[in-house]
Amino acid sequence: MMKKNRYIKLVFPPFWPVTQPYLSVPSLAAFLEKSHIACKQYDINLMVAEHIFSKSFLEVCKNRLKEKNNAVMDIIDFCIDNIEICKSEIRSPKCLDVDEYQSHLALLSLCSWIINLSYKNEVYDYAKCSYVNKLYDPLKSEDIKKCMEDVESGNIHSWVIECMKQFIEDLSTETDLVGISVSGINQIIPSVMLATMIKKRNPKVKIAFGGSIITRWHEKLNELKFLFNVVDFILFFEGEIPLYNLVQYLHGEKKIDELKNIAYCDKNGTIQLQIDLHLCIDIDQLPTPVFDRNILKKYFSPELVLPLLSSRGCYWGNCAFCDHAYTFHNSYRRRKINILIKDIKEYITKYNAKNINFHDDAISPRIISELSEALIQEKIVIRWSCEARLEKNLMPTCSD
Ligand code: SF4
Repeated sequence: MMKKNRYIKLVFPPFWPVTQPYLSVPSLAAFLEKSHIACKQYDINLMVAEHIFSKSFLEVCKNRLKEKNNAVMDIIDFCIDNIEICKSEIRSPKCLDVDEYQSHLALLSLCSWIINLSYKNEVYDYAKCSYVNKLYDPLKSEDIKKCMEDVESGNIHSWVIECMKQFIEDLSTETDLVGISVSGINQIIPSVMLATMIKKRNPKVKIAFGGSIITRWHEKLNELKFLFNVVDFILFFEGEIPLYNLVQYLHGEKKIDELKNIAYCDKNGTIQLQIDLHLCIDIDQLPTPVFDRNILKKYFSPELVLPLLSSRGCYWGNCAFCDHAYTFHNSYRRRKINILIKDIKEYITKYNAKNINFHDDAISPRIISELSEALIQEKIVIRWSCEARLEKNLMPTCSD
């Protein structure tokens, strides 16, 4: 049994844009904290970016190149000479100037190109934030299995592994539970690598996978049975309640068959899948996300941008190609405006936030209108952005 309030680590794995924190881990951490369960957050996505965009890592890449073509060497030397300045300036107000920002983006893209030249099996693109490992397709179960086996046997050479090795020590020691939030396809292979390395380093650590991309896996779990060699629990749909219940179970306060939206392998090696399609959370009851203050200045952005959700699911929900709302049980719920204002005030006072990016799948015109009015009434000066569907009544709302 896990001792109370000890060593829960929540991890956001590579690869995702590093311009701002992603919401999943800060939301889960806030929910656990509200229930008096302490945890530590790790943005390994950001840590890896910090590591690869460095003079020392580019030197490693340079030394790995077999063909020392002069023109290529000149480009690499240029990147080596400028990368640290670039990183520092992209985080400074200087890069509020678009041209300045673009020139720094170009340098980061050039560095990605150098990394790709040096490590032939992996293709990384900073601008698109895409990562492809040519050996493993994240959408094929057999490739995920192969990746896991290769990491277990040490039969793999990957710069992603080299970078993540630095953080494994801290994640593997004095840890009872590592929760890995897998939100995009680009994160699947690195997450499997990470989980396998943690388990190899310390088999006693319990590992849980969750996140929107993982939620679909409950439909094909039999194909993924091998994953339970390194992953102890897979959580589905909205993570707050399944994670909280899992911690209660690990504390000895709940029985495993009482847990919901979870899969695990029982003592007989049988996969147990416990799904409750109606376990929707009341989003007005969710606490304001909490961020790790120590890393907020490290995001690759000229000013701090913090993410926030005004709703879960999509109010429209009629686009045939879109399954974004699936993780939210296809149920649309919006947060009350007064609670959103409280969230925004907390972001300002706690983190000195000046920019908020709403991560809603599609924010509704009604929320845009009500939020704008409330911000004016409360005299809150903040820049905010969101993604919205082009509605007939959107333009008059914005021009008011
Ligand atoms: S409006 Fe956007 S989020 Fe909503 S269903 Fe269409 S594509 Fe999906």
